[in-house]
This record gives sequence, structure tokens and C-alpha cells, in this order.
Amino acid sequence: MPSLSNPTEIAREAFRLLATRRIAPTPENYRTVYHEIAGTRTDHSHDFPAEQMKSLQQELPRETPAQHRLTRELEQAAKDENWPIYRDTLIRFICEQSAVESLPWGDLINSLLREWDASHAGITTGKKREALEHLFSSAGNNAEALYGRLQNLVRTWSQTGRNDDSALVSADIPPPAESPRPSLAAAPATSRASDLLPQIRDLLAFALENAVAAQIVEAPELATEARALAAQARKANSIQATNDLLADLKRFAFRLELLADDRTELRKGLLHLLQLVIENIGELVIDDQWLRGQIAALRDIVTQPLSLRTIDDAERRIKEVVFKQGQLKHSLVEAREALKTMLVGFVDHLAEFTESTSGYHDRIEICAHKISAANDINELADVVQEVMRETRIIQLNAQRSRDDLQLTRRRVQETEERIHELQQELDKASTLVRHDQLTGTLNRRGLEDAFGREAARAARRKTALCVALLDIDNFKKLNDSLGHDAGDAALIHLATVIRESMRPQDTVARFGGEEFIILLPDTGTSDAQQALVRLQRELTKRFFLHNNEKLLITFSAGVTELRPGEDQASVIKRADEAMYEAKRTGKNRVVHR
Ligand code: GH3
Ligand code: MG
Ligand code: MG
Repeated sequence: MPSLSNPTEIAREAFRLLATRRIAPTPENYRTVYHEIAGTRTDHSHDFPAEQMKSLQQELPRETPAQHRLTRELEQAAKDENWPIYRDTLIRFICEQSAVESLPWGDLINSLLREWDASHAGITTGKKREALEHLFSSAGNNAEALYGRLQNLVRTWSQTGRNDDSALVSADIPPPAESPRPSLAAAPATSRASDLLPQIRDLLAFALENAVAAQIVEAPELATEARALAAQARKANSIQATNDLLADLKRFAFRLELLADDRTELRKGLLHLLQLVIENIGELVIDDQWLRGQIAALRDIVTQPLSLRTIDDAERRIKEVVFKQGQLKHSLVEAREALKTMLVGFVDHLAEFTESTSGYHDRIEICAHKISAANDINELADVVQEVMRETRIIQLNAQRSRDDLQLTRRRVQETEERIHELQQELDKASTLVRHDQLTGTLNRRGLEDAFGREAARAARRKTALCVALLDIDNFKKLNDSLGHDAGDAALIHLATVIRESMRPQDTVARFGGEEFIILLPDTGTSDAQQALVRLQRELTKRFFLHNNEKLLITFSAGVTELRPGEDQASVIKRADEAMYEAKRTGKNRVVHR
């Protein structure tokens, strides 16, 4: 295009161009084309919102050197009214601003944490903290500068020789021999062990909550512990916390192992119990009542939370009932047989009697015949004597039969009573087998079984079993002053307080008149002694009430731990000696041996 300088020619050319380019001849288009031809700049001052932009520019941030520089350039362009430059600068400003905001801080912080956790030769955690503090104080509010410096620092750390990541794991917690812990340092270089830790922690927490806690509802303590460990795992983001978590996990795993053992035994016990009941049901044919004992025992088991102890108890109870029922059933059969024999005898006798009476009839008929045919009184006298003899015989027979009948009736009555008694005894046998009838605690036989079970368990698990013997102080005085019934009530009160104060796994048995034995599994001597002292304290809070009068019952106790291979008599003898020492040294005391 030739360069024109005459405004008229430029104007004409402008119109021509508008026409040939088919552009609408608006004032704006005309002005643009005019300047194009004249080679002058377009003055946009009229259509650019200069004033508004200037006031907006006052509000722009000037925190970083780049922002200062750009706002200065904007001010200059505004002063020059060079709006294309202004526009470009503004765009650069916005781009740089968003670039600062989109600095990959997340990645940098991740790297920082990774290098912070990692162990570097010659850089202690203290030194790292010092470097960071210095960096923060010198970078001020300048995010870009902070980003750059932090990046350099992290790079310096990462280039320094790294110690093994296994430093994260305490050396005093060895991995279980059969399932070695996967080495964290063996993770691929692109995904460091410390990158994996948060994921592993989350996975572990998830497994503890969902796989472990949900599976052990019958052990609520362990389930609660699993949930607490899950929470602990989520928070364990320091070496110390990780070490603590590992130690706690190890303890927890050990307890889980014990629970698994219990479950296996529980299953075996249940199976055995079922077999026993089924076998026995086959034997019970005489009366439905015979089933009651077993059914009551089973009902007891299913209404309580399942434990080895309740199953063992039920098994022994059922065995006892089966034995007792076997004996009673035999007696019942004998009694019924006797009754049958008596009845048979009576019927035979009756038949004999009928026979003899029919013979009498025949003979009397002959006599009657003789009487009617008699010709003189002498003949008649002989017949009368015969009649009298026959009648006396039949009279004697009748009397003997009556006596026999009465005797049989008495015997039947006695046998019926015996059967009734046996049945009552049978009912009782189903419920009262190994418990003391007065206090409901185990009796001596029950104690023997419980001791055998607990001793075997302690030996199997290598745990302590303590035996406590307690004897009420001055009980004779209480009996003598308040009467035997009050004494009985005091025994019941003591048994109730013992049962309610001791742990559910402790066994209580009445050993003699006013002596009780407590078996404390998983308990050492000093803990057992403390438990007995707590029981004494409980008794001072829970008075025994007699005729609305509060009476304090105290006891003296001896506590001792079962020795390996020791029998019940020997350990109780030692507990008894300790108890006597408690009596000798003032009563209301607990002494341990
Ligand atoms: P200590 O403090 O030395 O033990 O004296 P104590 O009076 O408690 O002991 P002692 O052995 O002299 O007396 C125990 C008494 O316990 C004697 C007996 O009448 C009573 N007793 C034993 N069994 C029963 C029972 O079943 N019911 C009642 N009411 N008393 C019982
Ligand atoms: Mg005594
Ligand atoms: Mg006593």
C-alpha cells in the first residue's frame, strides 16, 4: 500500500478500503482503517476504560518484587496512555500471580516430610529444625522466595548420604520369627518407605477396626483395645509413636493368640457337651421329667455368655445328673417290679380264695342235700357239724385273705411313697449337684473340679494361680448371741459380697462351716492379697443387716500361689497356715505365703 500523507487522499483511500473489504463504515472502522493507511497509531483513549483501570491498579498487591515491578510498568503505560502495553503488562501480572499461587506446595511439603523423617549422615533433627527456622524468618511473607529456598534446602538434604530407613523401626521390637515384617527399605526407590507409612497406618487402622474388632465381639475388652489401637495407628506419625504402636500391637497380638486358643477349646468343649446330652437323651425313657435337669443346665449355658468355665460346669453337672439318674432309675425299676410281684401274688391269692369258696358252696350244697334226706336228729347233728367245720374253714380263709389284702395294700402304699421320694430326689439331683445349698457357692466337690481345671489351665498357659482361704472372725460369738439362723444369713451375705466383688473368673467355694476358698486365676500373690484387702473394704461398706441392726462381718485370710505340680491339699494347707497367722496376729487381716 502506497504511503499517503494528504488527509483528503487518506480519507478517500479509507472509504475505498472499507468498500473493498466489505467492512461497515462505522466511525470506529473508519478510524482504524484511516490510521492503517496513514501509518499512525490507533488512539484508543476513547474506548479504553482508562480511569477505571487506573483505580483498579491501585488495589493490586505489591508484596513481591515481581508485583512491584509489574505495577510500576502498569503505571508507566497508563501515564503514556499506551494501552496495548498496559494490556500486555496486566496479562503478565495475572499470569505470574496465578503461577505463584499454583506452586506445587503439596509436592514440596511431601518431600520435606520425607527428608525430615529420613536419617541423613551428619544432619541431626536439631540441625534440620535450625535450618528451617532460619529459612522461615528470612523469607518473610514472600511465598515465591520461600518456595525456592525450601526447595533448595530439601534438595540439599536429599543429596546428603541417607541412612537406612529401617531406623524408623525400633531395634528392641524384633519381628515375629515365623512372619517377618516386610522390609520398609525394600520399597521401590520411586516410592520411599516413608511415603508408604501413612497408607500402611491407614490400612492397619482399617484392618483393626473392621477385620479384628468386628470378629471378637465376645471379648469386648479386646475389641475396644483394637479400636483404640486403630486410633493410635492413625496418629502414629513420629518414630516414638510408631515404636509405641508396635510394642502395643505385639502385646495385643499375644492376647489375640490366647483368645484363639480359648476359642478352639470352647469348640471342643461344646462338641463334647452335645455328644454327652445326645447320648443321655437316648437313655431317658421312663419319664419326661428326667430330661429337666439336663435341659435346665443347657438353658443356663445358652443364657450366659459362652466361656470355657460355664461349659466345663455344665458338662460336670450333666455327668453327675446322668450318673444319679442312672442309680435312681434302677431303684425305680426295682420298686415297680416289687409292686407288680405283690399284685400278681394278690391276684393268685384271690383266685385261691374263689376256688376255696366255690368248694365250700359245693360242700354246703351236699350238706343241704343230706339235711333234707336226714331221717333222725343224729344224722342231722353230723351234717350240722360238717357245715360248721366247712364254714369255719371258709371263715379262716376269708380272714386270711382280708389280712393279706390289707398287707398288700400297705405295701403298695409304701412302694408308691418310695417312688414319689425317688422322683423328688431325682428332681433335686438335677439342680443341686456341686453347690453348697446354703450359700450357692461351690461345695467341696465343686471346688475339687474347679481346682483341677484352673491348675491345668495355669500350667498350660504358664500363668499364676492364687488360692485364698478365708475364715470369718468370731463367728461362734455371732451364732451364740444372735442364733443359728442369723449365722446362716451372715454366711449368705458374705458369699454374696464375695461373688459380687471378685472378678467373674474367680471361683468361690465353701470349704467348711465359715471358711471359704477363692481361686484367683492369672493373679500373682501380691495382687491376690490386694484383691482380698479390697474385699475386706467392701464388707465394711456393705453391712450385714440383722433385725434392722447393722453388723460388721470381718474375716482373716491366707493367700498363696500354686507351685508347679502341687496338689490341692498342699496349696490349701499353706493358705491355711497363712490364715492362722492372720488370726494369731490380730484377725481381720490378709497374710500371704
Ligand atoms: P475365729 O475368729 O478364731 O475364727 O473364731 P470363730 O468363732 O469364728 O471360730 P470357731 O471355729 O470357734 O467357730 C466357728 C463357728 O461357726 C462354730 C459353728 O457353730 C459355726 N458354724 C459352722 N457352720 C455353720 C453354719 O452352717 N451355720 C451357722 N449358723 N454356723 C455355723
Ligand atoms: Mg473356722
Ligand atoms: Mg472363724
